[in-house]
Amino acid sequence: MICRICQKEFKPNKYRPKQQVCSKPECQKARQIQNLRDWRLRNPDYFRTLEQDASWRESRYRYSRLWKATHKEYLREYEGIHNQQRKEYMRDYMRQRRKASPSP
Ligand SMILES: [Zn+2]
Repeated sequence: MICRICQKEFKPNKYRPKQQVCSKPECQKARQIQNLRDWRLRNPDYFRTLEQDASWRESRYRYSRLWKATHKEYLREYEGIHNQQRKEYMRDYMRQRRKASPSP
């Protein structure tokens, strides 16, 4: 086996046959740094999302405003149904009240 870092022949650990780096401390350290760099390249958003939490919230707010703007018709319809139901409920409620205590 050839070490990925120092390019020298080494015998892999019998418990880790897929080992690509020899056991020299400088090669192990280089491997750790490389792994971390690879991990960061694979997860570019990990630190960004933590740092930009505030701007994420702002973009959410902007998105909800955009949604309301693009679904105006839908919201108006929903509001209309809601108002109609409320009117009917109030009419029934007043009718019940009038029945319970007739005005003089
Ligand atoms: Zn090495």
